Amino acid sequence: MKKRNHRRHKPNSFWLILNLFLLFACVLSIAFLVFTLKDRKISLNNSASSTKISKIQNQKASTTPTNSSKQNTNTDTVEWKKVNETVSVPILMYHAIHNIAPEEAANANLIVDPITFESHIQCLAQEGYYFLTPEEAYRVFTENVLPNGNNKIIWLTFDDSLWDFHDIAYPILKKYKAKATNNVITGTVGNSGNLSLEQMLDMKKHGMSFQDHTVNHPDLSVQSAETQKNEMKESKVYLDQNLNQDTIAIAYPAGRYSDTTLELASNLDYKLGVTTNEGIANINNGLLSLNRVRILPTTTADTLLATIS
Ligand SMILES: [Zn+2]
Repeated sequence: MKKRNHRRHKPNSFWLILNLFLLFACVLSIAFLVFTLKDRKISLNNSASSTKISKIQNQKASTTPTNSSKQNTNTDTVEWKKVNETVSVPILMYHAIHNIAPEEAANANLIVDPITFESHIQCLAQEGYYFLTPEEAYRVFTENVLPNGNNKIIWLTFDDSLWDFHDIAYPILKKYKAKATNNVITGTVGNSGNLSLEQMLDMKKHGMSFQDHTVNHPDLSVQSAETQKNEMKESKVYLDQNLNQDTIAIAYPAGRYSDTTLELASNLDYKLGVTTNEGIANINNGLLSLNRVRILPTTTADTLLATIS
C-alpha cells in the first residue's frame, strides 16, 4: 500500500529521491572509512616490519664483527667497551691516490695507485677493521674504549684535500663502507686540483670527515707564534662555518711543529693533532702529537696488515 502511495503522489517522489541521495551518501562515507582504516593498517604493518628489518640488521652488525660493511655504517649500534690495556690506533697517512704521471716523479712517495689503494681498503674491511671518525678516535684515546670490544680499529687520514680524494679514493671507500678523514688546506679549496666545498659537503653525508691542515701549508715550526696562530685559527673558522661542524683535529703541514705549535693548538681548542712521526698512535704520544703510519706506493696490503697488527 505504501509503495503505491509513494508512486501515486507527486510529493512522495521528492522524498524517494532525497532518501536515495542520503543512502548514496551513507554508502560513500562507509566506503571512505573502510579504505582509510585499511590504508592505516597497511602503513602500520609497514613500519612494524621495517623496524623489524632494521633491528635484524643491527643485530647482524653487532654479532658479526667480520661483516664490516654493516658494522661500519651503523655507528648508532656501536657499544664502546672499556678495556684495561692502553688502546693503540694505527692512523694511516695517505696523500694522493691516482696513477702517477711521468712529471710527478719528484712526489712519487706521496702517490698511491688506485689498485694498490683498493687492495688496502678491501683487506682492512675483510679483516673486520672498524674505521674511526675523528670524534670516535678522540673517544678511543680519552676513554680507552673499543667499538663492540673489537680491537681492530683504524683511522684513515689523507692530507692536502686533493681532487683525487673525491674522484678516486671516495668511490672506493664508499664501496667498502670505510670512513676516512681528509685534512684540508683551506686556502686551496675550490682550486683546480683541490676539493671544492660542494664536494666536501656531499662526501660528509657519506662518512667522510674534513679536518684542518692550515690555510697555506707553511712549516709551522719556523713561523712566528702569530703566523702559526693565524694559520691554525682561520682555517678552523673556515671549516667550522662552511662545513657546519666543530673541527677537532689538525694535521701539521709536513709534520713540522714546535712546542709553541702544540700550545697554540690546545688554546684553539683542537682536541687531536696528527704528525708524521712514524708509528702506531696511543695516548702516550700526547693527543696533539699523535704518530701516523706513512703509506708508500710500494706498501702492499700484506705489509700494511703486518705493520698495524
Ligand atoms: Zn700536507
